[in-house]
Amino acid sequence: MKRLIRFVLNRVPRSTIQRVAHLATPVMRLLYAGRGVECPVCGGRYRRMMPYGYGPVRSNALCPGCLSLERHRLLWLWLIGQSDFFVSAPHTLHVAPERCFIGRFERALGESYVTADLESPLARVRMDVQAIPFPDETFDVVICNHILEHVEDDRLAMREMHRVMRTGGWGVMLSPVNPERATTHEDASITTPEGRSAAFGQHDHLRDYGRDYPDRLREAGFRVKEIDYCDALTTEQIARFALRRETLYIVEK
Ligand SMILES: [Zn+2]
Repeated sequence: MKRLIRFVLNRVPRSTIQRVAHLATPVMRLLYAGRGVECPVCGGRYRRMMPYGYGPVRSNALCPGCLSLERHRLLWLWLIGQSDFFVSAPHTLHVAPERCFIGRFERALGESYVTADLESPLARVRMDVQAIPFPDETFDVVICNHILEHVEDDRLAMREMHRVMRTGGWGVMLSPVNPERATTHEDASITTPEGRSAAFGQHDHLRDYGRDYPDRLREAGFRVKEIDYCDALTTEQIARFALRRETLYIVEK
């Protein structure tokens, strides 16, 4: 299963995976039937989560029911426990929306929920996050997870998201951060999938963010909260929801 997952992630175009991955979930739910873990996003209970990862494949990562990963489950718990997202139905821009969230956010937010992406078939608005086609101060909430490492000018994208966020608004901007690096590594001369895998850890990444990632968000004008939300949970919850320690980058304007 691990080899299959790695092969699919590295060889099949992302948009194809986004379109068809959910078709496998009825079978996966049966294969992983059990009581070992629980997904807070879809409420499903499974023997364990499925493996996932482009390079080293992590076990117990991907929910067989809704395809949530550890970070999605952690963010979901934070949104429910620490924000008014599901209560106040904020006007929300969700860039490159994750399939596990779309239907659930839509049901909670209704017309206030806008999904957007350059190519994802799941999004309603076609847009480049470096040139967002909305006026200043439009959205209460902007969500953009694991996108900035793929974008040519990530600083411009951050400024664009800051521009369309209303003053007093907030957002979620998760990116993979390499804790071993003090400063972000990028090199525009590396253009091949193999080169990018070697330099940045994934064939379609344009940089490997270091610990200065939140400073880039601050440069764009945001206040940034770095939340290690696992600290607020019990060891039992971390195991039950199959989480791993990841920082939630919550921005405010
Ligand atoms: Zn799930």
